[in-house]
Amino acid sequence: GTRRVLVTGCSSGIGLAVAVRLAKDETKRFKVVATMRDLEKRGPLEKAAGDLLNKTLVIQKLDACCEESIKECINSIPNRQVDVLVNNAGIGMIGPLECQSITSMKELFEVNFFGLVRLVKEVLPDMKQRQSGHIVVMSSVMGIQGLLFNDIYSASKFAVEGFCESLAVQAMKFNIKTTLVEPGPVMTEFERKVYEDAENTDLSETDEETARIFRDIYLPYSRKVFTTLGQTPEDVAEQTHKVITAKEPPLRHQTNRLYMPMTALKHADPTGRLPLEAFYKMIFKHDAVFNATLGILRMMNRRKGNK
Ligand code: NAD
Repeated sequence: GTRRVLVTGCSSGIGLAVAVRLAKDETKRFKVVATMRDLEKRGPLEKAAGDLLNKTLVIQKLDACCEESIKECINSIPNRQVDVLVNNAGIGMIGPLECQSITSMKELFEVNFFGLVRLVKEVLPDMKQRQSGHIVVMSSVMGIQGLLFNDIYSASKFAVEGFCESLAVQAMKFNIKTTLVEPGPVMTEFERKVYEDAENTDLSETDEETARIFRDIYLPYSRKVFTTLGQTPEDVAEQTHKVITAKEPPLRHQTNRLYMPMTALKHADPTGRLPLEAFYKMIFKHDAVFNATLGILRMMNRRKGNK
C-alpha cells in the first residue's frame, strides 16, 4: 500500500530533495506531506515537484519550533496517519564560542533537538497504536564525531543521536523503526548560510590567536572539505529513499563513504586519543598530508564515477 511520509524543512536543500524523490517513487509507494515553516518559500519545491504537486506531494505549513503548528498540520492529515516521519529541519552554526550568544545557541537547540522531540511526541503515540512506523532523522557525521568551531551544532546532533538511540529500543517493541541518516558535507543553503554568518561574526569577542585559527585555518579547511568531499542534496535524498524502502532499515546510515575513515577512528579507540590527534594533526600540523589525502579521495571518487 502507499505510505504517508511527513518531511520537515522542505523549502530548500535535503528536505526539498527528499520530498521530491519520495514523491517520484517509481511504484508510487508514497504520499508526501512536504512541510515548511514559511509557505511563501514554496516556489522552489513547487518547481521541483512539477506535475506531482497535489498528486503524490502536498505542501503544508509546519514550524518545528511550535507545538501548535505541528498539531495543526498532523490533525489535518486523514486519521493523523504519518507512516514515515522524516525529521530534517535544522540550522547550523560555526565560530569561536566566545563570539556566540547563549540566545542563538538556544535557538539552534530549539530547532535541531527540541524540534525533533516535538515531532516525535506527536507521531509516536499513533505509530504505537498502529504497531508500525518509521522515524527517519537527518543527523550528521557531527552527531558521531565533533569538529572544532562546530561545538554547539555538533552538541545538538549528539543530542539527536542520544535521543534516537534511546528511543529506538522502545520503538522496536512496537514495531517502529528508527534511522539516523548521517551526511558529511552537503552543498546546500545550509553551507552558504553558515559561511555568511561566519563572515559576519564579530571576531573581536575572542582573542587574536583564536580569531586567526578560525579565519585563516578553519574556514579554508572547511571550504576545501566541502568542495572535495561535498555531496549533492539529491544524492542524500536517493540514499534516504533507499533507507525508507529497505526491508530492515539500519539504525545508522552514513551517506558519504569518503568521510567514513574519520568516523571510524572513534570506534577504533575508546580512549578518544586517536580521533583527537588525527583531527589536530589534520588541521594544525600536516597541511601537506591533508592535501595528499584529499587528492587520493578525489581520485577514488572520480574512479567510482567512471564505473
Ligand atoms: P537547508 O538550510 O537548505 O535546509 C534546512 C531547512 O530547515 C530549511 O528549509 C529551513 O527553512 C528549515 N527550518 C529551519 N528552522 C525551521 C523550523 N523551525 N521549522 C521548520 N523548518 C525549519 O540545509 P540542509 O543542508 O538541507 O539541512 C537539512 C538537514 O541536514 C539539517 O538537519 C542539517 O543539520 C542536516 N545536515 C546538513 C549538512 C550539510 O552539510 N548541508 C550535513 C549534515 C547534516
